[in-house]
Amino acid sequence: MKIAEVRTHLLDHRLDTPFESASMRFDRRQHILVEIVCDDGTTGWGECLGPALPNAAVVKAYGARLIGRNPLDTEILWQELYNLFRDQGQRGLAVTALSGIDVALWDIKGKHFGVPVSVLLGGRMREKVRAYATGSFRRDGVDRVADNASECAGHVAAGFHAVKIKIGFGPKQDLEVIAAVRDAIGPEARLMIDANHGYDVLEAIEVGKAAARYNIDWFEEPVIPEQLSAYRAVREGQPIPVAGGETWHGRFGFREPLETRCIDIAQPDLCGTGGFTEMRRIADMAALHGVRLVPHVWGTAIQIAASLQFMAALLPDPPRRDPIEPILEFDRTPNPFRQAIIQTPIEHVDGWVRIPDGPGLGIEINRDALEEFALRDTA
Ligand code: CA
Repeated sequence: MKIAEVRTHLLDHRLDTPFESASMRFDRRQHILVEIVCDDGTTGWGECLGPALPNAAVVKAYGARLIGRNPLDTEILWQELYNLFRDQGQRGLAVTALSGIDVALWDIKGKHFGVPVSVLLGGRMREKVRAYATGSFRRDGVDRVADNASECAGHVAAGFHAVKIKIGFGPKQDLEVIAAVRDAIGPEARLMIDANHGYDVLEAIEVGKAAARYNIDWFEEPVIPEQLSAYRAVREGQPIPVAGGETWHGRFGFREPLETRCIDIAQPDLCGTGGFTEMRRIADMAALHGVRLVPHVWGTAIQIAASLQFMAALLPDPPRRDPIEPILEFDRTPNPFRQAIIQTPIEHVDGWVRIPDGPGLGIEINRDALEEFALRDTA
């Protein structure tokens, strides 16, 4: 079996209601999928976290090196491609593009051997995972406090045990939102806050101290990801566990945050941090340092399916009779690509998501939907 072709699919959907995190505005949802076709007809699918067009350019540059190669050589190809742009790469698009390719290669490997990727990773510890609802962005034209509170009450009513809300716009209103959401979801539901690196250290400490009384599970991306000493200052200066890592790429990107204990919870993104090949190493590093792993998930059904395969094989740390189970980040904002691009949608039932058990990622792509949502205007 040899790689015959590497294709990208750019997906585009205009949102009816734009929404914002502290660092980004979403008018559209755009994603890039990677399709790798082999000479025997086997096809693998991957996805890259981040901007679609720049990722597509890097995938194309890598893709030329893959033609004629054995797709089962995942370690060899990972190192070769990473090394290709190492001097100017190391993180960012060089690694997010490589992630999409690596996920597609593992999909091929699973299909080739007729098993889910989770089996190749060492075995399925579990057949389903509990999901937490990510949402509560700032939306245009509505009162943010009331809007976030009613949205989160809806997630809990739908069966989610935990919700994550967006802060980082400014301490005063953020604290109003946190109080209103806690009130709306009741005392039992878990609550997480995500600042999308919108604060400086002093604001993050102020918010963390004031928000602790609302029983917050974690405080995500309090400050910009380059400021590792600021992360440590936030962790030391307020009582809520600190989470981060969706923008740290590869084992090299995670080394210092783990070694210097910037975080209590590591959130690598499978489709951004280097695919299955690198995610395994990062999970081992997190376990080595006793840091809990909760993968970041933000994308299409391919990203969700890949993350589920990884989570199926994640070993409990520590191993005990009733272990701490991994939880799936489940984006609840409008995005047709979570469902429309695969034949059997991945949905939650009472806040639980079944892990597909078919070969590879365990999903079948709906090519009509890829055509329907194809990005046409690249200007
Ligand atoms: Ca986040």
